[in-house]
Amino acid sequence: MAEKSAVTRQDHDRTILPVYAPAQFIPVKGKGSRVWDQQGNEYVDFAAGIAVTALGHCHPALVKALHEQGETLWHLSNVFTNEPALRLAQKLIDATFADRVFFANSGAEANEAAFKLARYYAAHRHSPYKSKIIAFHNAFHGRTFFTVTVGGQPKYSDGFGPKPADIVHVPFNDLDAVKAVIDDHTCAIVVEPVQGEGGVTPATQEFMQGLRELCDKHQALLVLDEVQSGMGRSGKLFSYMHYGVKPDIITTAKALGGGFPVSAMLATEEVASVMEPGKHGSTYGGNPLACAVAGAALDIINTPEVLSGVTERREKFIQALEAINEEFSLFKAVRGQGLLIGAELADTYKNRAGDFLKAAAESGLMILVAGPNVIRFAPSLVIEFADISEGMERFKQAIRKVVA
Ligand SMILES: *Cc1c(COP(=O)(O)O)cnc(C)c1O
Repeated sequence: MAEKSAVTRQDHDRTILPVYAPAQFIPVKGKGSRVWDQQGNEYVDFAAGIAVTALGHCHPALVKALHEQGETLWHLSNVFTNEPALRLAQKLIDATFADRVFFANSGAEANEAAFKLARYYAAHRHSPYKSKIIAFHNAFHGRTFFTVTVGGQPKYSDGFGPKPADIVHVPFNDLDAVKAVIDDHTCAIVVEPVQGEGGVTPATQEFMQGLRELCDKHQALLVLDEVQSGMGRSGKLFSYMHYGVKPDIITTAKALGGGFPVSAMLATEEVASVMEPGKHGSTYGGNPLACAVAGAALDIINTPEVLSGVTERREKFIQALEAINEEFSLFKAVRGQGLLIGAELADTYKNRAGDFLKAAAESGLMILVAGPNVIRFAPSLVIEFADISEGMERFKQAIRKVVA
């Protein structure tokens, strides 16, 4: 085998498009919820690649699926269909409200497909003027130009020229604000059941139910972005299942492939039926390698043991965070759903979430932030209880450094 050349963190700043500011260390190996860097330092992983490696790093069943498919068939394109994609589609249909699946490679692409489908459906079934999309402040839907514009943070979409039009943003969890803007020209309401990047804020029951009713009243589609909240993270397979609300379209990505890039848009037959060959597509979407891994991940995640394990692990996290709060008075709120947990910093630590993230890394712990004021935890759904305890000990060390 050819010798691999040595690389350092400095190479990042020289060679990679300067859109990221990664940690100073380079992870080289992971197993379960532990990660090791180039220097051999070990980390407890409460981040899971931003809610992606839901079964931990290098889960044996996923490695096996990847290995077997890797020796069988890698890629065809959608000029041909393939067995892993068909199996995965059936599993997703069996497990959800959906009748039809479109595969893509990232959350943004699944959302792009969803938003295009919602627009197309309205134009096809109702009127070409029924194009308004209602979305929410602080929402995040990805970085393609359509999805970033539907997202509720203009700082991410400004500066790239004229934006896709007829997208309206209102405050999250504010049903009256939606009522004030919805009309018969609305094609869709797009919402994350739990706003992830925007601060780990779950939708209220009243809000989700109200959105469904407003959609029905105005013949608009309810599109749920479950890219982060889906695939078991909430304690149910999808977060919408907590609300008893039936969506028209959902998207899933992040944990779907457990670390292998793959995403899906799920829709009802009625909505899907307006599409025809050539209207949308993707070269890689439904790639056999991706679907083989995702199929193996779904088989494990969609079991009572794993899903109820999420709720048990959440309790352990919440207890530990409450104990930390008693000692340090760090948080003003701890919220979220399942193993998507946000701890909002008290005013004393305003805008300092990043300081805690850095200190945690120095103490051997990987965590996330969601904006400047929220520390976010999105660990593996099967993280060992001992890893939770050890991670929380390291978190306390980190906190002592920051508050000292
Ligand atoms: C991460 C995320 C996306 C974007 O996914 P990518 O794979 O980065 O394109 C979209 N929506 C939500 C809710 C997300 O958390």
